[in-house]
Amino acid sequence: MKSNQFDAIVVGSGISGGWAAKELCEKGLKTLVLERGRDVQHLKDYPTMTAAPWEMPHRNHIPSADKLENPVVNKCYAYKEDTQHFFVKDSEHPYVQKKPFDWVRGYQVGGKSLIWARQTQRWSKFDFEGPGRDGFAVDWPIRYDDVAPWYSYVERFVGISGSYEGLETLPDGEFLKAWEMNCVEKEIQQRIKSAYEDRNVIIGRCAHLTEPKEIHLEQGRGQCMARNQCYRGCPFGGYFSSNSSTLPTAAKTGNLTIRPDSVVHSLIYDEQKGKVTGVRVVDRITKESSEYFATVIFLNAAALNTNLILMNSTSKRFPNGLGNDSGVLGKYIAFHNYRGSINANYEGFDDKYYFGRRPTAVMMPNFRNVHQQEMDFMRGYMTFYSAGRAGAGHADVPLGAELKEANSKPGPWSVYMMMQGETIPKETNRVSLSSDQQDEWGVPLLQINVGYDENDEKIIRDFHQQGEEMLTKAGCVNIRIWDSQQSPGLDIHEMGGVRMGRDPNTSMLNGFNQMHLAPNVFVTDGACMTSTGTQNPSITYMALTARAVDYAVKEMKKGNIG
Ligand SMILES: Cc1cc2nc3c(=O)[nH]c(=O)nc-3n(C[C@H](O)[C@H](O)[C@H](O)COP(=O)(O)OP(=O)(O)OC[C@H]3O[C@@H](n4cnc5c(N)ncnc54)[C@H](O)[C@@H]3O)c2cc1C
Repeated sequence: MKSNQFDAIVVGSGISGGWAAKELCEKGLKTLVLERGRDVQHLKDYPTMTAAPWEMPHRNHIPSADKLENPVVNKCYAYKEDTQHFFVKDSEHPYVQKKPFDWVRGYQVGGKSLIWARQTQRWSKFDFEGPGRDGFAVDWPIRYDDVAPWYSYVERFVGISGSYEGLETLPDGEFLKAWEMNCVEKEIQQRIKSAYEDRNVIIGRCAHLTEPKEIHLEQGRGQCMARNQCYRGCPFGGYFSSNSSTLPTAAKTGNLTIRPDSVVHSLIYDEQKGKVTGVRVVDRITKESSEYFATVIFLNAAALNTNLILMNSTSKRFPNGLGNDSGVLGKYIAFHNYRGSINANYEGFDDKYYFGRRPTAVMMPNFRNVHQQEMDFMRGYMTFYSAGRAGAGHADVPLGAELKEANSKPGPWSVYMMMQGETIPKETNRVSLSSDQQDEWGVPLLQINVGYDENDEKIIRDFHQQGEEMLTKAGCVNIRIWDSQQSPGLDIHEMGGVRMGRDPNTSMLNGFNQMHLAPNVFVTDGACMTSTGTQNPSITYMALTARAVDYAVKEMKKGNIG
């Protein structure tokens, strides 16, 4: 038992768990990270990072047999021959879809930090004020000003490229040099700007080292080479991942123990002591059970798995899941609505081209219902677009001279626009545990019951109308709108179920991500989110995690946790 005793346990080693580990270790706590997947070491375990297409048996395509066996993960655009080893196969990790839900996961050291798209925008004050002002979910117990210094703190370490714009709807951060828009993107930007007062078009903000600083070089990371092969793991550490950044930094302190292949089954609640004392683990390979103990526990298994672990943590005191006297656990799941997109062409600029690749797009912060409720739907959407010339590198002709010839002629300019819509957390959008099906580690299967509603349909219609209008005013032609009808989940921004709030009767966590009814347990992944905003979520999980660790360690020192 002594060798299984730590100051802190972190469950999960992905984006949020990596941050919890780094912060806890740097503050001097002996920290155990329990990760259900295999070990993945930076560089050493990126087998395809420099592979050329002809070095891959299927030239980077997925064979049909895999598509049939794993229909969910095959819908993810990033799942290809060169990245498939970082994604969970549906066939190996089943779950129950009460309604269609595409659950995309990465079970390994580093979690989805290896395979995320690295877009990072701060929330604005309007996002934190949203639920309270518009009367949905519950009021956030924090505001933008509570998180702002922590955004700065994590941004400096992660390395975020972006431009300073002074926008209220998308606050600036600590930025490295921004990527550039190409000529057509700039033209569209200017035309939208002059046509609408409330619409700002800026270059995307992303976790790439455009100009590494000392703080990044110390991590062993270097400049992003714009290879756009990030999902394979980056040989330069040019983008942020747990593997290249937070976990090695945590290890340097000498306080970190990582135990891969450790499936956390549940948390241990000691009825006598009246508190959580540790976690139960099933070894992924041997299936042996063991227990680990700590003073403080951070749950960072990614939103839905954190829900699962808490629901599976039953005791005499908490028969319905840890800390769940309110019955809120597993409910109010929300996500991002990605269904709407628009394709178009741009005429002119035929004598213009652009140089190189770029790991981000152009973006427009939400402009709907910002200062007050004004539409017939709640909340709004972020818009992304990009322009490029088809042809070069994409010519659909056989190998040989014909291909070379085709590739030497850039095709017409095309424009792509997409939405990232907020969804409203609802009690009926929920997850629960199967009563009769378990996985091979003896953990009940997760049942997911999450769907769209009329608000989402209205948002899609508005995006289509507004997008078409904006692209028309911007000079685009041949505009085609598209509703992918994709299921929730494929956005890979699932959130909620263990939401923050002020009142223990309607929320699970307080303003520091601490469980109201189990004060030595903190949840700082997407499960904590009271609402979704329209921004890509991970930078907010990082900021909330660093902030929660700071608070937890101060509380431990005061003797309030222990
Ligand atoms: C293709 C793709 C594109 C994306 N693009 C973006 C983007 O541009 N911007 C953005 O903000 N976000 C993006 N995301 C989402 C982003 O990856 C997640 O928000 C982020 O990784 C969540 O961090 P996390 O720590 O909660 O979970 P993860 O990074 O998933 O880490 C969770 C870890 O917990 C482990 N775990 C789970 N259950 C257990 C258990 N029972 N016991 C032990 N360990 C467990 C998992 O194996 C995993 O390693 C994208 C995701 C994908 C896949």
